[in-house]
Amino acid sequence: MKLFNGQKLESLDDLLIEQLEDIRDAEQRLVEALPHMADAAGDPQLRDAFRHHLEETRHHVERLDQAFQMLSREPGSSTCDAMKGLVEEARDMVDAEGAAAVKDAALIAAAQRVEHYEIAAYGTVRSLARRLGRDDVASLLQTTLDEEHAADDTLNRLAESTVNPAAARA
Ligand code: ZN
Ligand code: FE
Ligand code: FE
Repeated sequence: MKLFNGQKLESLDDLLIEQLEDIRDAEQRLVEALPHMADAAGDPQLRDAFRHHLEETRHHVERLDQAFQMLSREPGSSTCDAMKGLVEEARDMVDAEGAAAVKDAALIAAAQRVEHYEIAAYGTVRSLARRLGRDDVASLLQTTLDEEHAADDTLNRLAESTVNPAAARA
């Protein structure tokens, strides 16, 4: 979150818009990063999981645009410094050399930090929208929140069933 000059938080509506703009930037950064993470993955199931979540993430951006439309607002530009940093850390794992399975475990570690950040962000905006009487917007955001949880669960399952055991043998 970065407040631009002149951007004021005078109401909960202002905060909801600010938070949505931040997440929109975060999701756009992730759309750029996930193809590299998929290409870097050695395990085919992990590669598929990243590709699947890339498709979902594109829908997350669309849903945010839809939320802005429902709120009769144009999304302003924003920089999510947190996602910028998380994506940088993920990029370090993409560029890392060494044992393939350990690198897969590292990619999962980076991706789960991303998912948890998004889970926090969507939980907040969902609750703000509900508080403001916008159950329509809240349920749209809940749909994305459910997908972020599912993505995180998939990564957990892959780590514990396949990737970590292989990495432990490296
Ligand atoms: Zn997302
Ligand atoms: Fe942020
Ligand atoms: Fe996500």
